[in-house]
Amino acid sequence: MIARNILIIKFIYIFALQSRELVKLKWSFLYQKNNKNYLNIETGRGDSEIDICEIKNESVMEQTNYYRDLMVKKHIKSDFIFPSLSFRTLGKAMSTKGVNDIIVRLSKVRGSSFSALNIRNLSNGHLFTHEYINTELKPSLRDKFFKCKSCGKLSKWRNDKLCEECSVLGNRDYNKSGYVYFIKAIDYDYTKIGIANKNVNDRLKTNQVGNMYELYLMGYLQSPDFKDMEQEIQSKLGKYI
Ligand SMILES: [Zn+2]
Repeated sequence: MIARNILIIKFIYIFALQSRELVKLKWSFLYQKNNKNYLNIETGRGDSEIDICEIKNESVMEQTNYYRDLMVKKHIKSDFIFPSLSFRTLGKAMSTKGVNDIIVRLSKVRGSSFSALNIRNLSNGHLFTHEYINTELKPSLRDKFFKCKSCGKLSKWRNDKLCEECSVLGNRDYNKSGYVYFIKAIDYDYTKIGIANKNVNDRLKTNQVGNMYELYLMGYLQSPDFKDMEQEIQSKLGKYI
């Protein structure tokens, strides 16, 4: 579908998209706020980084809406803005190779050979030098945000994957917290580290059942990040205990 392919190229240029970012774009990432249009981009750098672009370009918005209507008319339902249109994978995410193939094919019509990366690099260059292809196609600045690990809100400020509010001591969601426990065998050099969602003392009892050694709870840590903490402790201390 040529409407999709042309729009793919425009999106890559305007938002300096990498192919892997483009194939993940969903209609829900495109939204209006205070009469302005925005596009969220999942960068895939870390699990929580989101770039937000304001779409200042009216004609690109019009073309996107036109394309969206066209998809509806053709009964192509997909969460993805640029889904696969192949018979077998209709409506699913495109492959990054699929994106590149489209661009190479279209550029060869004009006698040159371009890749998705070439267009993205051109966009970055133009953004920096303020030389655009034309005013209709104007690269958009990507504003960097991250998703708070605790409350999920997008925020500019980060500390250990938490937003400003959530990283304030005492304001964390301790309802979702669990425990990392340290259970030791009395008189033996054997310590077990594990996680418990609720009660650490229950975990002591279940460990004691069928265990020839007498066990006691050395201590525990409580945190919403208990799973990550346990993994980190295991990876750092696992070989010593
Ligand atoms: Zn938060």
